[in-house]
Amino acid sequence: MEPERTCVACRTRAPRSTLLRVVAVDSVLVRDDRAMMPGRGAWVHETDACVDLALRRRAFVRALRVSGPLDTQTFQQTLQRNG
Ligand SMILES: [Zn+2]
Repeated sequence: MEPERTCVACRTRAPRSTLLRVVAVDSVLVRDDRAMMPGRGAWVHETDACVDLALRRRAFVRALRVSGPLDTQTFQQTLQRNG
């Protein structure tokens, strides 16, 4: 069975292939499409609803345990807006 992860926005558990993994690299939020990058990751549905919710709640900052500001601008520009 495919392992499940929890979306940091809606808190729903889902198979990891249906979620997008993100990591923080030098205080910049980056997408980890292959889910291979080292370090702590956060999982989110790649939909407007979940990404916007996660950004509003600073869920990425908390999930990734970033101290200080997290640059989410670059990440937002990479989103495939399909939700
Ligand atoms: Zn979600």
